[in-house]
Amino acid sequence: MDTVLSFEKQRVIGLDIPRPLIISGPCSAESETQVMATAKELKKLGTVHALRAGVWKPRTRPNAFEGIGSVALAWIKTAGKETGLPTAVEVANAKHTEDALKAGIDILWIGARSSANPFAVQEIADALRGTDTPILVKNPINPDIELWIGALERINKAGITKLGAIHRGFSTFERTNYRNKPNWEIPIELKRRVPGLPIICDPSHICGRTETLLAVSQTAMDLNFDGLMVESHINPKEALSDAKQQLTPAQMGELLAHLVFRHEKIDDVLTRTKLEELREQIDKIDHEVLSIMAERMSIAEQIGQYKKQNNITILQSNRWDEIVRTRMEEGKEKHLTGDFVKKLFEIIHQESIEHQSHVMNEEQPSTN
Ligand code: PEP
Ligand code: MN
Repeated sequence: MDTVLSFEKQRVIGLDIPRPLIISGPCSAESETQVMATAKELKKLGTVHALRAGVWKPRTRPNAFEGIGSVALAWIKTAGKETGLPTAVEVANAKHTEDALKAGIDILWIGARSSANPFAVQEIADALRGTDTPILVKNPINPDIELWIGALERINKAGITKLGAIHRGFSTFERTNYRNKPNWEIPIELKRRVPGLPIICDPSHICGRTETLLAVSQTAMDLNFDGLMVESHINPKEALSDAKQQLTPAQMGELLAHLVFRHEKIDDVLTRTKLEELREQIDKIDHEVLSIMAERMSIAEQIGQYKKQNNITILQSNRWDEIVRTRMEEGKEKHLTGDFVKKLFEIIHQESIEHQSHVMNEEQPSTN
């Protein structure tokens, strides 16, 4: 389905803020002094453009800290006024939205649990009608791009054009290094489907710990994201939510100082020529990859013929186990990640099965 979103492309979420946009602040607003102290220290860095804080916290288990509620909105607003930083909070229903708008919060965002729920998103969209506060939509917890786009469309249909997305990673059964796996291909696909939509990355909820924040933030910058939202707390050890992933404002300063911001535009002729040369090599390799794949499929078809003549099933589990094991070993030697090699051979195998199955049933494989 085509994505028809209309939004302001020129400025990041409609605010006159330099790109990349850096939003930082505590996971949760816990007290007036905590919000103010964190805001003041972040402001001193000179590189943070907006202050975030959670007021209503969607928690996995009901006995965890669920946020201070509406009274904290005034603390955030005061801290914003005192420091000159625009403020941002998460809203999860119509009442939150109304309260946050009434308090004069400058940016609202929809959290990952809410964006997975079209009822919640629609309720927020209805509450936003006629307003012009910028809205950022986090990806839903499950890796479903249609649901993410659907949430953006619902907000956009309510007349909101100061719109952006936040990539915060995806929940997974697998044990990984991340709290939420980044699946970078999904935000990249969102960029392709909705050109010009600002997308910022939330490395805090991707990492779940501070050690890997720099690497994930750098990847986001290298992929040309429009900004970052990073959790920072005046005293992370004492934080009432997400203690492990929050940075002190000083550490936030270090993170930003270590990030390399690259340009998308290539001005320098020499760089352009070098890049073109490398891209030509990539084109050539991709051409070879496709030719080799076609050759592999033609052999798979010959195997299909043989199996048909001898009445053998397509799938022989031992053979498949052996393929996965040996390819993963070889991939490791070649410094390819296990996850990549496994996925690659799963899709190659799937395509082989289709070719074999067509041969065995005497049809031509479809090319769609
Ligand atoms: C948050 O930003 O503190 C938060 C709850 O994030 P998410 O919706 O991404 O889990
Ligand atoms: Mn958090």
